[in-house]
Amino acid sequence: MSQWTGNETVDEAVARTLAGEALTREECLALLDESVDALTEGAAVVRDELAGEGVTTRGLGYVTRGICSQDCGFCAYSARHDADVEQHGVIEREKLRDAAKRAERKGAERFNIVSTRRGADSALRTDEWQEVLGAIETIREETDLEVDACLGFLEPDEAERLAGEGVKHYVHMVETSPRYFEEITSTHTFEERRRTLEVAREAGIDLISGIIVGMGETPVDRVDAARELRDIGIDVFSLNVLSPVAGTPVAEEVGTTPDITREGILQTLAVVRFVHPEIRIDTNTARAPITREEFLEASGNSIQLGDMIHYGDYPVSERESA
Ligand code: SF4
Repeated sequence: MSQWTGNETVDEAVARTLAGEALTREECLALLDESVDALTEGAAVVRDELAGEGVTTRGLGYVTRGICSQDCGFCAYSARHDADVEQHGVIEREKLRDAAKRAERKGAERFNIVSTRRGADSALRTDEWQEVLGAIETIREETDLEVDACLGFLEPDEAERLAGEGVKHYVHMVETSPRYFEEITSTHTFEERRRTLEVAREAGIDLISGIIVGMGETPVDRVDAARELRDIGIDVFSLNVLSPVAGTPVAEEVGTTPDITREGILQTLAVVRFVHPEIRIDTNTARAPITREEFLEASGNSIQLGDMIHYGDYPVSERESA
């Protein structure tokens, strides 16, 4: 009988991971054939030993919302789709500060400033960029929150400016594997996303990146995306469950309920934990077939308070009370 779960393949993966060895792609793919219970149990051992059980919470506020030029098939905020979601142009720094204070009162430790744009484009949209910088400064002065930013593609000077303002994490998803990325987005590439992560890291900002599950990708795509992120070297893995929004191409393909089961999420979480044994794994579970408690009990570490980015939307009433 093997040591942790009784499943030989999983326990071998646990032993190698605890010894500091990285699993090969073939070994990661082999895990997909094992029982979800054993995988979850093994991943929890890895989390407890190497990443710890600490849970953090975060809130977010939008600088802009719903006017993006890009065509990501899952995204309700693309101007090219017909999703019926709240939209607005640039909002003032005071409103972002107030949202941050609300999030802090509800227990958030971090606040993410989000713009649903292709990129920061500071030279093109000077006023918006100044509002972002002002909001970061105000929130840092008036709250104890760590401030993160999610503004799309970044140039090196923009990343350095954000680092200078004290931004803790740059949040930039790769969404899925390079293979599937080409099927969901035609207006930019996986490599462009990788470059922004590298630019932010070179400026000294920690990285949050991750994937969306439930948009028609395969389990192999999820493994490949997780391994790409290991090669890039991220600090927090964000595992997002898509709640497809009517009017987006992905919702037309897979319908408007998440295209993944509870077992599929647990399997993904476990394999991500084996690929990223030492870092925090965040999630949103707003409408996913898994609860926050199940996620944290498996091998996750963090939850998001309130709104979600890009991956679905709450009705306004739920958003305000979340
Ligand atoms: S995911 Fe980001 S880049 Fe893609 S359409 Fe949505 S806001 Fe734009």
